[in-house]
Amino acid sequence: MTSLPQVRKLVTAIPGPRSQEILKRRSEAVSAALGMAMPVVVERAGGGVIVDVDGNSIIDLGAGIAVVSVGNSADRVVANVKAQVEAFTHTCFMVVPYLGYVEVCEALNRLTPGTHKKKSILLNSGAEALENAVKIARSYTKRQAVVVFEHGYHGRTNLTMGMTAKNMPYKEGFGPFAPEIYRMPMAYPLRWPGGAQRCASEALGVAITKMEKEIGGKNIAAIVIEPIQGEGGFIVPPQGFLPGLAKYSTDNGIVFIADEVQTGFARTGQMFASEDENVVPDLIATAKGIAGGLPLAGVTGRAEIMDSVHGGGLGGTFGGSPIACAAALGAIATIEEEDLCARAKHIGEIISSALGAMKAKYPIIAEVRGRGAMQAIELVMPGTLDPNPTALSAIVKFCQSEGVLILTAGTYGNVIRLIPPLVISDDLLREALEVLDRGIASAI
Ligand SMILES: *Cc1c(COP(=O)(O)O)cnc(C)c1O
Repeated sequence: MTSLPQVRKLVTAIPGPRSQEILKRRSEAVSAALGMAMPVVVERAGGGVIVDVDGNSIIDLGAGIAVVSVGNSADRVVANVKAQVEAFTHTCFMVVPYLGYVEVCEALNRLTPGTHKKKSILLNSGAEALENAVKIARSYTKRQAVVVFEHGYHGRTNLTMGMTAKNMPYKEGFGPFAPEIYRMPMAYPLRWPGGAQRCASEALGVAITKMEKEIGGKNIAAIVIEPIQGEGGFIVPPQGFLPGLAKYSTDNGIVFIADEVQTGFARTGQMFASEDENVVPDLIATAKGIAGGLPLAGVTGRAEIMDSVHGGGLGGTFGGSPIACAAALGAIATIEEEDLCARAKHIGEIISSALGAMKAKYPIIAEVRGRGAMQAIELVMPGTLDPNPTALSAIVKFCQSEGVLILTAGTYGNVIRLIPPLVISDDLLREALEVLDRGIASAI
């Protein structure tokens, strides 16, 4: 709740004694396979802070991986969820339907790019949304090939692991992976041979030629791409790349699927990142920021595609839970009424100008990139493009010990990504950026 004091305040070392106690129980009880970005245990969270069980108030620049864009325990989310839990908790939408599900689908159909007739389904996770988008595209096109991109991340289920580029930690030892997945070179300006200029002029042609020669356009069911790659390191393709892929899809009867699980719901300063280049995806997968922290995901798209699957062909026990739907309606109302798209743009200006100043001072920063409240720096060995994961871990540790939570990303483990809640105050954000600046200074 926003009643939580919006301050950075440390009363113990990180982690404090109570956190340590619980983390000991965690390591006894919870599988060691689960990662942990910051070793503290949360007690409350809201606005731009996380308060741990020792009373430390930590500035949150991660938003639970771009999920609590409206803030933790946002007022409208809490009120809607309370009312829903008291009315009913579950019927299964496929057994007895309820209004909340229909209203979330109406909102998705209204808010996603394009004025054509759209329909939606709801699911539990981003990975499940991607799986369903691929199922729908295959069923509609009667084709099998799925095109994805290097550095892409689409989830941890079997199909989405196969679609995800990075082996460690997502895929190692978990094969075999699903067939008919083809990975194309990504338009990654910083690392394109010959540089950003050549990336802008060459990348689309390279991807299209490879699809034509290695798969054949008429065999491709779907092209799946994140408008800005998330886990891969906030890679922003040059202008024209996404519209070019969308056009190639249309020309070849391919379903163009935008994975907006991380970029969606005001994160980049638009409701959806596809809008920045007027790209209208045939299908769009959403999750993370949709419901203020409750598990919910959606697939939204052209009605003729969404309706092409046989009756009963899609679904799931919990998908579109009434509680998650109530939360989503609260989160979406918050985004619209508080104009969090404008907030995301404003946050983006504060962050990118601070990071730009750091880049001028610190040669380990190869690039500042991102859009809106989704900004990153890529760390290298000075004067080269060699990744610098050592500096990254030193910086993350420094920030944590100073009470600032930042997240990492990148195929090479060398990207710091900033994705704060969109309701964080300017002051708190600036304070966190000063800590980051000191962290980088201490790491070089
Ligand atoms: C997080 C993420 C997913 C997977 O979502 P889960 O809810 O973790 O299954 C898929 N695509 C992108 C772009 C993501 O950021």
